[in-house]
Amino acid sequence: MKMKIEDIKKMSVEQQRNLTYDEIKKIIEPLTSDEIIELSNIIGYPVFTRLCMGDIKHRFVLLQDGAAAIIVNKEGQILLQSRADNDKWGLPGGCQELGERFQDTVIREIKEETNLDVLEKDLELIDIVSGSSRRNDYPNGDVVINNTALYCIRNYSGELKFNSESKNMKFFDIDNLPKNQNDPDLIELYLQGINKENRDDELVGNSRVMIDFLGNKYYYECAGCDIVNKKMTPPGGIIYEDESFILACDPDVPIEGFLVITAKDHIKSITELSSEKQQDLMNIVNKSINLLKELDITKEVTILQEERSRHFHMWLFPNQEWMVKKFGKGASYIRDICEYSKESATEEDIEQILQTNKKLIEAFNQNDVD
Ligand SMILES: [Zn+2]
Repeated sequence: MKMKIEDIKKMSVEQQRNLTYDEIKKIIEPLTSDEIIELSNIIGYPVFTRLCMGDIKHRFVLLQDGAAAIIVNKEGQILLQSRADNDKWGLPGGCQELGERFQDTVIREIKEETNLDVLEKDLELIDIVSGSSRRNDYPNGDVVINNTALYCIRNYSGELKFNSESKNMKFFDIDNLPKNQNDPDLIELYLQGINKENRDDELVGNSRVMIDFLGNKYYYECAGCDIVNKKMTPPGGIIYEDESFILACDPDVPIEGFLVITAKDHIKSITELSSEKQQDLMNIVNKSINLLKELDITKEVTILQEERSRHFHMWLFPNQEWMVKKFGKGASYIRDICEYSKESATEEDIEQILQTNKKLIEAFNQNDVD
């Protein structure tokens, strides 16, 4: 029997998988390398490779390249699927065909498995994941080690469709993921990524939700504007306010004397301030630093202002002795110090911060900035 590629195309997946070693050998013999690539892509590269292994096909550890997708819906939930023959929940994705790019693999697999359409411009590469966490042992003894291009996809179109008899598919809240997971390593990478994004956003005031250190939760478009409009009350209340600025303690990080000056105008840069307002700002900075020292809260202050922030604010960060001892000097430690303070602040610490705030309010209002 002489089989052509055309004949194999007509076979069912089941029939293709059941080709014997002798049959596949005969099929391949007259083929050119381009035809072999075509054949492997018809059968599917991993299946094709195993068929070519003959007797040792289940003893051969296969190295595969593939792609997987974290598909995120508008509610921030991620799509997982489970197959009837495997009750574990995994990500959409699969093996690369010969000659395919990762981008094509992930778009093709998503279409095949979920019916969703994704454009290449909407693929965000999270990482290339390799190593022992990518090992898969199958019930029939097959062992596969994957190298996986992991993408995040937030924009897609089409209607989710799948054969509910062979497959289940569902969007999950990220804080309520199923226990029985197929790709925990990939999901962990995604979660680490969004945690980092949130931290970066928090640090520059770009996140949309904030829980202050007293436990009050605020949803906002612009935290700066909400403080100016009094929709948000900084812990301990406003320390000082004039026509152009508000001085308060940082609402997010419980550190004694960690102050933030917010512009009343919704601007990003110090260069957008008139020279009178710039002078006004420097007066507030000057007075704040003097008071922090007079009240013995700190001997050194670091000033931070990021134009990446949505709304102009300037931080006055008190470098206290315990910080230098624990973290060392330098602006690079400020994030670590903030993280540490958020995790470890006790009720007494917070009480102390509020007391200091009171003292600052009194001191600021005793004699005017000018
Ligand atoms: Zn604003």
